[in-house]
Amino acid sequence: MIFTKLSFFLFIGIFIFTDDYYYVQFMNQSDIFENGHKLPLLEQFYSIQGEGFHAGKAAYFIQLGGCDIGCNWCDTKFSWNFNTNHLICTEEIINNALLCPAKSLVVTGGEPLMYPLDYLTSELKKNNIKAYLETSGT
Ligand code: SF4
Repeated sequence: MIFTKLSFFLFIGIFIFTDDYYYVQFMNQSDIFENGHKLPLLEQFYSIQGEGFHAGKAAYFIQLGGCDIGCNWCDTKFSWNFNTNHLICTEEIINNALLCPAKSLVVTGGEPLMYPLDYLTSELKKNNIKAYLETSGT
């Protein structure tokens, strides 16, 4: 019984430690996003929205890597790991969106709100492109 309790607290301790460790690592890297001028892009493509209120409408999609939630039911687990190799200039994303006939851009992930998106969304607004965020809201 004592062993079980010790194992439990050890497990919780390791979980809290590793969670904090990765959070601190992430925060230390946050300046690499250059205030939103760079984003960790996994993929970008022009397609039709398949779900929600705007289902059936054309949109430009970008998928950002990295998620700090870890839902059991997640269908994009490959997107969880933040990888600096995927950093791309936000300007490039905006230019691609401008070339596409859709007047909306969907930001999905991963968890897009882990990153500074002010620059992306304000530039899109200047160009009359609506931005939609697919977020866990945490
Ligand atoms: S918040 Fe989204 S991307 Fe993150 S684990 Fe949950 S379902 Fe997956």
